[in-house]
Amino acid sequence: MSNCLFCKIIKKEIPAEIVFEDEGIIAIRDINPQAPVHLLVIPKKHFSTVLDIQEEDHELIGCVFSVANHLAIEEGVDRSGFRLVVNCGEGAGQSVFHIHYHLLGGRPLQWPPG
Ligand code: AMP
Ligand code: ZN
Repeated sequence: MSNCLFCKIIKKEIPAEIVFEDEGIIAIRDINPQAPVHLLVIPKKHFSTVLDIQEEDHELIGCVFSVANHLAIEEGVDRSGFRLVVNCGEGAGQSVFHIHYHLLGGRPLQWPPG
């Protein structure tokens, strides 16, 4: 998608602090962190929202969780606790319409999130 912020980051047209990358996934540090650890795990394939995920994408989306686990361990929040969050739609706070999983940790996280 030519006009998508995260597609531009994936193509290295816009800089970001990349903490992980493989064929299907990139993970970056959030530019406006809401916790001491705030990463975004982003499938490279463009999906506007999680509603666009199809059966053929299940393996890729499964890999998101493996990458998040790996990063939680690397960032030292696996034992203290972390949250993996997806916002779907403006009403839920989605502002970038290329799906991404927020990995938040490093402080106590309240529930419900609000
Ligand atoms: P959401 O509101 O769930 O769509 O999340 C979008 C996230 O992207 C927010 O947490 C933003 O702070 C983050 N963000 C926006 N622009 C950038 C950027 N250039 N680099 C890294 N993170 C960004
Ligand atoms: Zn995109």
